[in-house]
Amino acid sequence: MSSAKLKFPIYMDYQATTPVDERVLEEMLPWFSEKFGNAASTGHVFGEEAAAAVKTATRQIAGILNAEEKGIIYTSGATESINLALKGISAAFYGRRMHIISVATEHKAVLDCLKYLQGQGVEITILPVGSDGLISPRDLEKAIRPYTCLVSVMMVNNEIGVLAPMEEIGAITEEKDILLHSDATQAVGKIPVDIKKMNIDLLSCSGHKIYGPKGIGILYLSRRARHIPIGPQIHGGGHQRGLRSGTLNVPAIVGMGKACEIAQKEMKKEAERLLKLRNRLFVAITRELDQVQVNGSLERRIPGNLNLSFEGVDGESILLAMREIALSSGSACTTAAIEPSHVIRALGFGDERGHSAIRFGLGRFTTEAEVDYVAKKIIKTVGRLRGLLP
Ligand SMILES: *Cc1c(COP(=O)(O)O)cnc(C)c1O
Repeated sequence: MSSAKLKFPIYMDYQATTPVDERVLEEMLPWFSEKFGNAASTGHVFGEEAAAAVKTATRQIAGILNAEEKGIIYTSGATESINLALKGISAAFYGRRMHIISVATEHKAVLDCLKYLQGQGVEITILPVGSDGLISPRDLEKAIRPYTCLVSVMMVNNEIGVLAPMEEIGAITEEKDILLHSDATQAVGKIPVDIKKMNIDLLSCSGHKIYGPKGIGILYLSRRARHIPIGPQIHGGGHQRGLRSGTLNVPAIVGMGKACEIAQKEMKKEAERLLKLRNRLFVAITRELDQVQVNGSLERRIPGNLNLSFEGVDGESILLAMREIALSSGSACTTAAIEPSHVIRALGFGDERGHSAIRFGLGRFTTEAEVDYVAKKIIKTVGRLRGLLP
């Protein structure tokens, strides 16, 4: 182990956000000052070159999804895309009896949106997950009602990294003629995503989870979804088929496009590299520590995620004892108290499991030396907190 190459603090929280890749930044820079045109002002060369840059980015983003360019709507990020998808579809069915099915481990953007819609009279079913963090397609089938209009299932979970059985889910919604939305924020750029094979009608994702800038995301609409009168959430100007008005953020769009191009090109190699690093981390930790539980299926998981519970120790205490490492714990500070994560809770092992959980998020700039350092440090820290070491 050569700690000489290490730079502190060590970032191991790639599911929270990622740095902008230098290659992405370079592509973005001219679009701030030098080429500042409004992509909607196509009466002159400034607007035309901006519109052409957006077109290139749209092609790059559509490419990584196997999607059609005209289905892409730019937003400020996945949270906005999810709001537009769920509220927009509900608006299209306004006045009719309506039912939406989703999953207990979804991101708060989905769950809070659904809670809001429930208050508006939409019927909501939240499916449970098994101890592996996955839903059973049978449960989904059983939950479908004659007036179910939408199913929303995240492709990859942001806390435990597990992969939903998307193709099976897509086959069910296709057969029952129900729209399928997927929050694919943690999937795009990491695993192959094919909206056609998966039968996805609406897909949300974000720039800043894939080495692009913050404040940019997309909602993808399939041909079927494009025929539904989705209710816009932001009115004015009629940009983007009237679905999301406002001047396009050209530098961020260019950045998200470039980020997708790079991710698509490097995905296969990078996945292999990250899997090796994650296994190295897992083996090192579990060789030295007992009573360590893996949260979620270890096999059906993106390579850059590991989520472990260290029995008898508090995740927050672990983080406080290793301030030179950026990790995420299984608890979230709400205004009232420290709450265990709703995702780990949904696995059915009790609150203790969530309180003692740590998420290791590995990414493009994670090195072997960093993994070795983090493993060594967490072994020492957990040992000390358990009172076994001085
Ligand atoms: C980060 C994240 C979001 C929110 O994305 P923003 O672009 O930050 O709004 C939604 N869903 C998942 C799964 C995420 O990881």
